[in-house]
Amino acid sequence: MFRHALDHFPALGEDTAEGLDDLPFLDHRRARAWYRPSADGSRCFSSTGTSGHPKRLAWAPEEDAWYVGEKQALFGPWLAGLSRAFVSLAVGHNAGSARQVLEGLGLEVHDAGLSPLDEQCSAIAARQPEVLYCSPSILARLVDRLRDRSGAPREGGRPGSIRRVITNGEVLFPSVRARAQEFFGIGAAHLMDTYGSTEIGTIATTCPACGAYHFLDGLYPEPVPPEVALPSAPADGPDAVVLAVSSVKRTSFPVVRLVTYDVVQGLRRQVCGGVSRFTMDRVLGRCDDLLNYGELFSSFELADLIRRRFPVARWYAFNPRNDLALVIEGVEPPDFRDLLRDRFPLHSRLSDLGLVDEPRIRFVRDFDAFAARAGLAATVEGKEPRHVLTVTPDPSWFDEEVP
Ligand SMILES: [Zn+2]
Repeated sequence: MFRHALDHFPALGEDTAEGLDDLPFLDHRRARAWYRPSADGSRCFSSTGTSGHPKRLAWAPEEDAWYVGEKQALFGPWLAGLSRAFVSLAVGHNAGSARQVLEGLGLEVHDAGLSPLDEQCSAIAARQPEVLYCSPSILARLVDRLRDRSGAPREGGRPGSIRRVITNGEVLFPSVRARAQEFFGIGAAHLMDTYGSTEIGTIATTCPACGAYHFLDGLYPEPVPPEVALPSAPADGPDAVVLAVSSVKRTSFPVVRLVTYDVVQGLRRQVCGGVSRFTMDRVLGRCDDLLNYGELFSSFELADLIRRRFPVARWYAFNPRNDLALVIEGVEPPDFRDLLRDRFPLHSRLSDLGLVDEPRIRFVRDFDAFAARAGLAATVEGKEPRHVLTVTPDPSWFDEEVP
């Protein structure tokens, strides 16, 4: 790993460095210089991975080749015997190669690209794909719409052809996974979540045997010291760390102790199938989506709760100081406050005791208008946007529009 780093990116080295541990972590400030379109024949992708601002990133043809080959090695045995796939990944590096990956495995591929949700549902109904390859948010929307179209979540109402689901591009919340498995009638081993980034490529995938995420070969994951990634520790429990990754596979971008700013839980070595692998339990989200509200308050749990009740709703948590305001798209169901209380019993107790203010909860029907008045990004494409904002919502953002 160290030799690869010095061979390809000598500028990263320091004269006194004798091993990987001596190289500094590549945080977004130090990585900035490497974002650029470059090299003849390279494909270029846009990444918002490390700061929220779009940046251009090159992938050389040989890097693309291993990226595709690696996915084929990963999916091949697991998709054996299946023949039709449906892809809906919007845009990006993964979307750009999904067809190539699956066609190379002998599957017939329908790539929905950026087409309307209803058209995608019709295509699924007509083509009866066995494999669904999509982002978690598109998966949630597809399940929701297909369920609506079938009239009721009854047996036979769902597309019975689906045997495997692959997700990529965002955090797959347990609620979205559970809904999809239930709707399609598949087990956990038949939904593979792949975690990756435009900078690194595929990083880890869920294992059909043990359910945990195993890192791909050629990658070295390590926790980032809090002082590098954040002023405070992630608010998602003691075994949550911010992940850095090194790779011997990238040659046009230095994946050398690269800080992903993703918070992961349970990073360790684990033996699975007789092989010792770098493993983790789950990806919790971005380390910059931090909530300060009384005691440790997990934005992952909050996002999961919202996704469970409202699979496709957009939302923001406003957390200017040690208080919490939630703004969620749609109409408030009668049980939402109870669900929130149940999910966060410690915080409910704190607010019952008057130690923190009760969360303020507001549902808005016209989320686009709300977001426009608030000057917030309303559309969700690709990675989950930041949901936690450290500002106080202004009352004028909630003004109903005059017809
Ligand atoms: Zn395993």
